[in-house]
Amino acid sequence: MTDLSIRTENLTRDFHSIRAVNDLSLCVPTGIVFGFLGPNGAGKTTTIRLLLGLLEPTSGQAEVLGLDVRTQAGRIRACVGTILEGDGLYERLTAYENLDLFAEINHLNKSERNTRIRQLMEHLNLWGRQSEKAGKFSTGMKKKLALARALIHRPALLFLDEPTAGLDAHSAVTLREDFKTLAQQEGVTVFLTTHNLAEAEKLCDRVAVIHKGQLVAEGRPDEIGAQIQRPLVKVSGYGFAPRTLAELERLPHVVSAEYGEDGLMIQIDEGGEIPGLVDFLVSQGVRLEGIQKTSTSLEDAFVALTREESP
Ligand code: ATP
Repeated sequence: MTDLSIRTENLTRDFHSIRAVNDLSLCVPTGIVFGFLGPNGAGKTTTIRLLLGLLEPTSGQAEVLGLDVRTQAGRIRACVGTILEGDGLYERLTAYENLDLFAEINHLNKSERNTRIRQLMEHLNLWGRQSEKAGKFSTGMKKKLALARALIHRPALLFLDEPTAGLDAHSAVTLREDFKTLAQQEGVTVFLTTHNLAEAEKLCDRVAVIHKGQLVAEGRPDEIGAQIQRPLVKVSGYGFAPRTLAELERLPHVVSAEYGEDGLMIQIDEGGEIPGLVDFLVSQGVRLEGIQKTSTSLEDAFVALTREESP
């Protein structure tokens, strides 16, 4: 088993004159929650369809769970769970029948099916509603049922398109916890798209941002923010001497320091730490009233990375 669940190399897909996925090289380690982010039309769905072998690449390579998307698509689809556009449920079947059908398609025997369905439905708070038609379920209940369907055969990799859209806050929090648990405790790789960047920041171990089919950033959510702007330390107080700024800029890990309306602004690099700055400022006779470190949010970084003109 490879320690990468997904690996693409120069993956490209054209639709006539539109290059939907452009030279995408991406590695997704096993057992993490990976956010695949991009504005509308960026190429996310096309990439997922390429990874599932539902579309042929125009050029480039991709492997999912060590299997080639061109030649082993059937095996890939048998090993992964998906919730893509729509929920993939049969509205006229009951919730139980939906899961039983998917379990049977995935070769679980009758007793395994009973146990697995009950376990998943209990966990997702759906047990008790198993005999109701899926079509009568609320949006949130359908989402949970679709997740149960995707998990029925214990897949090693889950592809989820906007998994928490339309859910109330409680259900969204519960599902996010489920994704983390799946990754951390069961080693499942969760590959999800979301337009909710606060969610991606909290939930994802790593994210990739694509724009016009091209990868524009990849890393931990906090690293992506740091690519756009270095952490900023805002200091309020009094007793700042003019030489303090120049002395500050000579300290290791300080990129710049300037005094403005909001007080002293110190830009630091990744190694910069607040206690060292406090010690230094106090030694310079500064009387501190407040000190706060801010970093660029994933949302701010995303907006900057996916402006119309870039890349
Ligand atoms: P969204 O967030 O809106 O779902 P997306 O990132 O999933 O967007 P894609 O659906 O992958 O974006 O679309 C990428 C580009 O490829 C768009 O310009 C889209 O119009 C085009 N495209 C996607 N599928 C087809 C198709 N079957 N035929 C022609 N063009 C397509």
